[in-house]
Amino acid sequence: MNGKQGDAMGDATNGPALNKPPLLIFTDLDGSLLDHDTYDWQPASGWLSRLEREAVPVIPTTSKTRAELLALREELGLIQTPFIAENGAVIGLPPSWQHARLDRDPASPDGLVVKTPSLDVDFIRRRLDVIRERHDLRFRRMGEMSLEEVRELTGLGAAATEQAMTREGSEPLVWEDDEVKLGKLHETLRIDGLHLTRGGRFWHVMGAVDKGQAAEWLVARFQALRGYRPRTLGLGDGPNDLALLAATDMSVVIAAGHGQPMPLEKPCVYRTRAHGPQGWSEGVSHWLQKELGWETEFPDERQAPENDAGDN
Ligand SMILES: [Mg+2]
Repeated sequence: MNGKQGDAMGDATNGPALNKPPLLIFTDLDGSLLDHDTYDWQPASGWLSRLEREAVPVIPTTSKTRAELLALREELGLIQTPFIAENGAVIGLPPSWQHARLDRDPASPDGLVVKTPSLDVDFIRRRLDVIRERHDLRFRRMGEMSLEEVRELTGLGAAATEQAMTREGSEPLVWEDDEVKLGKLHETLRIDGLHLTRGGRFWHVMGAVDKGQAAEWLVARFQALRGYRPRTLGLGDGPNDLALLAATDMSVVIAAGHGQPMPLEKPCVYRTRAHGPQGWSEGVSHWLQKELGWETEFPDERQAPENDAGDN
C-alpha cells in the first residue's frame, strides 16, 4: 500500500481524456465481448485498443471464476482494470484501484486484492444439499461433479474446466427437475437469503449480490478514490446481466439466441442487431460516438491488431 494510489488511478481512469467525463465500462464476457461458441473477441479488438488509449477502464463482469478470468484478462489486455467474477460474488482490484485505508487484506502475489462480499461457497453448498433432501429435488451441482462431467457440459479443456470448478462465492447447478420444483427451489433459496440466476449453461446459486450491485460497489470505490461519480456503460446478452444493465447509466443489450426475455425499464438502452463481439462493438459505437460525441474512428483501420491481418 502506498500513498499514491489516487494518482495511479488518475492515470488509469482519466488519462488523456481530460475533456470527457470519466467513464467506466462494465461488460459481460460469454456471448458479449466473447463469441458464445468460439470465445473469439477479435471483432471487439479495435474498440478495446481505443478504450485503452483513451484510458477508459473496461471491467469484465462475468459468471466466470477468478481462476478462469486471470489468463483472459491478460489476453484481452485488461490487467490494469478491476473485474467482477462469479456473477458479482467476487471483485478483484488491481493496485490502482486499491485504497490504503479500505483494503486491509494483503494483496495476492499478482498484486490483486480480492473482495468476496457474498456468502462463501462452502456455506452455499451445504444449504443446497439440505434443500435438495428436504424438498426431494433433482439437480446436480458443480462441486459434486467429476472433472469429466463438467468438461462434457462446458466443452472446455481440462485446465479450463479445473479453473471453472475453482469456486469462491457461488455454486452452479444443472437442473434436472420440472418447472414447479424449480419454483420451489427459487422460493426456498430466497427465504435463506440466497439467489438463483440463470447463466448460459448452468443455474448459479449465490448470496444476495448480483452483477449490478458489484458494479455499484466499484463505482463507490471510484468515488472514494477520486471524489466524484463516473459515468457508466454496461453491456450484456443474458438474463444474468439484467441487474448490471439496470444499474448502469447507459446499457447495451447484445442480441443472442437464447430466447429469454430481456426486459429493462429505463430510457438509455440500446439493443444491438449483431451478436457477440460484433454486437459489443455496435453497442459501444452507439453510445460513445452517437450519444457521447466521440470522434468517429475506425480503430481497426488506424491500428490493426496483429492477428486481424486477414481482414485488411
Ligand atoms: Mg453472456
